[in-house]
Amino acid sequence: MARAVTLIPGDGIGPEVTDATLVVLQGANADLEYDTQLAGLEALKQLRNPLPKTTLDSAERTRLILKGPLTTPSGSGFRSINVELRKTYDLYANVRPVRTIVPGGRYEDIDLVLIRENTEGLYVGVEHYIGMHGDPRAAAESVMIVTRFGAERIVRYAFEYARRHGRKKVTLAHKANILKFTQGLFLEVAKQVANDFPDIQWEDRIIDATAMQLVLDPYRFDVLVMENMFGDILSDLMAGLVGGLGFAPAGNIGVEAAMFEAVHGSAPDIAGQGIANPTALILSACLLLEHVDQHETATRIRAALDRVVREGSSCTRDMGGTATTREFATAIVRALE
Ligand code: NAD
Repeated sequence: MARAVTLIPGDGIGPEVTDATLVVLQGANADLEYDTQLAGLEALKQLRNPLPKTTLDSAERTRLILKGPLTTPSGSGFRSINVELRKTYDLYANVRPVRTIVPGGRYEDIDLVLIRENTEGLYVGVEHYIGMHGDPRAAAESVMIVTRFGAERIVRYAFEYARRHGRKKVTLAHKANILKFTQGLFLEVAKQVANDFPDIQWEDRIIDATAMQLVLDPYRFDVLVMENMFGDILSDLMAGLVGGLGFAPAGNIGVEAAMFEAVHGSAPDIAGQGIANPTALILSACLLLEHVDQHETATRIRAALDRVVREGSSCTRDMGGTATTREFATAIVRALE
């Protein structure tokens, strides 16, 4: 029986890249059945709720989500629905692989995986204004939360991921020199967990130096693990190593549910023009297929996508081509055959 998936097309370029992804999944005969649901700005417009109950009910049933990007208003307005979904289903591990597809770029043969803690850190959303001298918004404070439990399970996930995927090394990127309690706890726990994986090399590095080294010599890394906000920032940097946000997929993994999405956002600057690159969501769908043990379909889609991107004549604008989002997807389906 086909595996049920809650499909959230999302905002901005979301519906365009989701449509292209579906063309590819259906072209590859992925054994999936889609329950399309609203979330984000579009849900707010249509149902006056950025995370409607019908969407949550569907996710509750399928425990598997494929999601386009969702717009989050900056400053005021509703809080991130992405963060809300990750918290609701305790999707604690955000797995972000980056891999060179097009040879001849600034970096060759990049193959790295960033594992980002997804439920704690500064993104727990514990923040408030502090009124002083009659000004109710004179200052603002955000709280970074690191629990021993949260740090241990994400570092353990990173080591187990490395072992499962035949990878050799895990790097913890942190800021324990300045944030002695929160980041210090993360580092202390990581050192303990590393003892359980003598077959995997391990190192810890300060986050800012890690950012520089990723640009100077990315080949020294393999699997990287870090807290929520650091992972958010460095995964965009790592996407830059392989051609940009258009190429970066992500899986949000929990014990009982998982959600797959592109690293990029809703790109309002190019929405509605049919020119977005759907690669990141297509690669996220490949991660989903592997998660539900449809490895062969994922491998076929990746190989067809690689062929189309390398051949170049059906690429979208960000890849130097002139094809539309749909034309790129159709070319992948042709390459599958
Ligand atoms: P963005 O990722 O949407 O865009 C950054 C730049 O990259 C833009 O110039 C955009 O045109 C380009 N870009 C992104 N994806 C592309 C693609 N597939 N093909 C071609 N070009 C692409 O980041 P932003 O502008 O900072 O954020 C826009 C909105 O998206 C915000 O509301 C933000 O909160 C939201 N967001 C959502 C997610 C998510 O749903 N997981 C992630 C990040 C940002």
